[in-house]
Amino acid sequence: MQITGLHKLIEIKDLTESTYILKIERKGMEFEAGQHILLGRANDPDQREYSIYSGVNDEYLEVLIKEVTDGSVSKHLKNLASGDMLNVEGPLGFFGLNKNKISNGKFLFVASGTGIAPFHSMIRTNPNLNYKILHGIRTCDEAYGMESYEKERYVRCASRETECDFTGRVTDYIKQNTFDKDTLCYFCGNFKMIKEAMDLLEKKGIPGNQLHAEVYF
Ligand SMILES: Cc1cc2nc3c(=O)[nH]c(=O)nc-3n(C[C@H](O)[C@H](O)[C@H](O)COP(=O)(O)OP(=O)(O)OC[C@H]3O[C@@H](n4cnc5c(N)ncnc54)[C@H](O)[C@@H]3O)c2cc1C
Repeated sequence: MQITGLHKLIEIKDLTESTYILKIERKGMEFEAGQHILLGRANDPDQREYSIYSGVNDEYLEVLIKEVTDGSVSKHLKNLASGDMLNVEGPLGFFGLNKNKISNGKFLFVASGTGIAPFHSMIRTNPNLNYKILHGIRTCDEAYGMESYEKERYVRCASRETECDFTGRVTDYIKQNTFDKDTLCYFCGNFKMIKEAMDLLEKKGIPGNQLHAEVYF
């Protein structure tokens, strides 16, 4: 059931100069990992979609946000303080794991930037999931929450630094590696990355009905 209302900001955690986590009162909101909420400041009609970063068993809601400097909402949310009120609407969307495959499926998660958020929720909710994440970032400090993932399951694909796990874009990683044909692939982040990554995996023989995407912008 969807709910709309005011939720208190419990805490704001800065991860980098531009990226932060908002920890928000949950107030009993039921959701499935992968879904998003609409979020804005109280008394501000502007709201934006944000994937839920926390797990379904957490007492609170968390979202992972990157400030878009010329944007209207993300920069204001960054300036909030504990105790401020937020307008929350949700849960929304259908991006989520195939429930029949959670216990025995092989999952590939491909994210750019904060597109890692729904996968963080899925993994936190299902700790025994058989997954691999390809995280497209520019620099190593953008590997948000990397301690949440098993080291061998999380590949930082950095386009501007050579010290991460892989130097290049997620699409370069996909080109240079093989994937089992029964892999269930999930993509989240910017449209260009998603389109290119999906095309590459399809060409590598992964059926179209195993490719699922959530486009942020
Ligand atoms: C289903 C869904 C879930 C989303 N979940 C998240 C999330 O978990 N975390 C998150 O940070 N964002 C997420 N977004 C993007 C978010 O909704 C906003 O678009 C973003 O925060 C910018 O809002 P703004 O009001 O600050 O900028 P706006 O004034 O709305 O936009 C300014 C410009 O920035 C572009 N833009 C949007 N996002 C980015 C970005 N990350 N990097 C560079 N340019 C961008 C827009 O296309 C636009 O051209 C999600 C979007 C969708 C559709």
